[in-house]
Amino acid sequence: MYNSRKKPMDEIPEEITTVWNCASDTCNGWMRDNFAFSVEPTCPICGSAMVKGEKKLAVRFCHGEGREKAGCFK
Ligand SMILES: [Zn+2]
Repeated sequence: MYNSRKKPMDEIPEEITTVWNCASDTCNGWMRDNFAFSVEPTCPICGSAMVKGEKKLAVRFCHGEGREKAGCFK
């Protein structure tokens, strides 16, 4: 009998991606670090300074249009 139970390990591949997080506690703004910023960017939502960090992103997030813009490497 075919078992379609999902395998949690490889159902949604994730990658640690370098991102910029908004420094504001009340804002969820963040962006991928794929534009080779020469200076620290500002949050596109609230204009606060941004802090470099890491984020686990599902690889499938990158599929489709704009994947290069989104900084997808796959
Ligand atoms: Zn912000």
